[in-house]
Amino acid sequence: MKTTKISEQELLTQQEYTGKVASLFADRRPLAHIRTYGCQQNEADSERIAGMAEAMGYTVTEDEKEADLIVVNTCAVREHAELKALSITGQFKHLKARKPSLLIGICGCMVSQEHRKNDIKMRYPYVDFLFGTSMLYRFPEIVYRALTEKSRAFYSDDSEGNIAEGLPVRRESRFKAWVSIMYGCNNFCTYCVVPYVRGRERSREKDDILREVRELAASGCREITLLGQNVNSYAPEGTPGYGFADLLTDICAIEGDFLVRFMTSHPKDASHRLIDVIAANPKIARQFHLPLQSGSNRVLQAMNRRYTAEHYIELVEYMREKIPDIAITSDIIVGFPTETEEDFSETLNVLRTVRYDNIYSFIFSPRNATPAAKMENQIDDAVKSERFARLLEVQNEISRAQNERYLGRNVRVLVEGRSKTNAGLLTGRSSQNRLVHFAGEDALIGTFTDVFITGADTHTMTGTLKQGEEQ
Ligand code: SF4
Repeated sequence: MKTTKISEQELLTQQEYTGKVASLFADRRPLAHIRTYGCQQNEADSERIAGMAEAMGYTVTEDEKEADLIVVNTCAVREHAELKALSITGQFKHLKARKPSLLIGICGCMVSQEHRKNDIKMRYPYVDFLFGTSMLYRFPEIVYRALTEKSRAFYSDDSEGNIAEGLPVRRESRFKAWVSIMYGCNNFCTYCVVPYVRGRERSREKDDILREVRELAASGCREITLLGQNVNSYAPEGTPGYGFADLLTDICAIEGDFLVRFMTSHPKDASHRLIDVIAANPKIARQFHLPLQSGSNRVLQAMNRRYTAEHYIELVEYMREKIPDIAITSDIIVGFPTETEEDFSETLNVLRTVRYDNIYSFIFSPRNATPAAKMENQIDDAVKSERFARLLEVQNEISRAQNERYLGRNVRVLVEGRSKTNAGLLTGRSSQNRLVHFAGEDALIGTFTDVFITGADTHTMTGTLKQGEEQ
């Protein structure tokens, strides 16, 4: 597919709309509230929405009650996420009743589905505008029209996606950043709605990505996470033959003390070459998120995953041989249609073989328009819940044992802030993506610091500032 890069002319048009919105508020700074659901890509999109809102003269606020503009950025990967977004939108109705000038918009994956779009049109009359993921760059125009035309607008785009470079961005963190390297997905796993709502795979040009990373590194950014639905199939049109391993190599050559993470990888495309590049570059985090989804080859085939459990385990073995301190994490779906007790046991077997550092496990949730939603032999809810509990039991024990390996060792962490559960402690994240709590000064926030590990449980570790030599 030919990538549609948004033209400079179109971006200039949007800049004009930005100026027009700002001129409507010449006498005051209005407030914008952005609510985000879903994955890191949505968080990255919301940072762009916030950046465009600021350029239009808005100040971003955490308090929705004060806002003049509310944007709900939605997710469609699981029904639960959609229901949460709809529920919060329902609560905003009272704000609109109190302040009729309030603009309410919904964007993201959920509203890229026709049935949800129609639902919102009919049942949420106080929502002023909707726009799908490929319309993000037109946010200034959408806001300007909503402010001046005073009629509801539902924007849809039938293209298979685009790439817009140079949009303003308001990053949530001064030392951590998301960098999208590609958008969309071509894989059509049978349970997944992403290819329908985010379009076909398209990769940003490498020079655009390298420029962004260079700027981030120069500004003191300490952790850069490269985003894509399947980063392993990164393939920019302007540089044939250039792939994800090349991009990582070029990023690691950029000067600065920063760590590179990436997500997500597809096991069918993760290569030995990629693993070799990670092994050779200490700037790349020692964590590999490799979604397994199921340990049963029969279920993997029904999911259209296009790898086998044996291939997956071979990749893990190669990774552990080349990068002994690598942490491996995964996504697992429990209760996919037709999953038998034997299939589920095979998933548990892979857990015990791989010994993941952590997993993100999900109960299968049928998504509208996906093949899996229409499959026969959907699994009973009680069976799904029971398997889910057993899966967690097995993994929690492994996660705890994996964390305990760090007891009595120093680990380098990027200090992220104060712990949410114990505000007296700082919280940091190791290269292996483990959370570490320890006592320290605020001045450490945003720096790399060595912590001596004194405690470990299933999800976190505790420690003190470094003692003795690093191990
Ligand atoms: S690789 Fe599969 S699970 Fe991941 S986004 Fe694409 S279709 Fe969805």
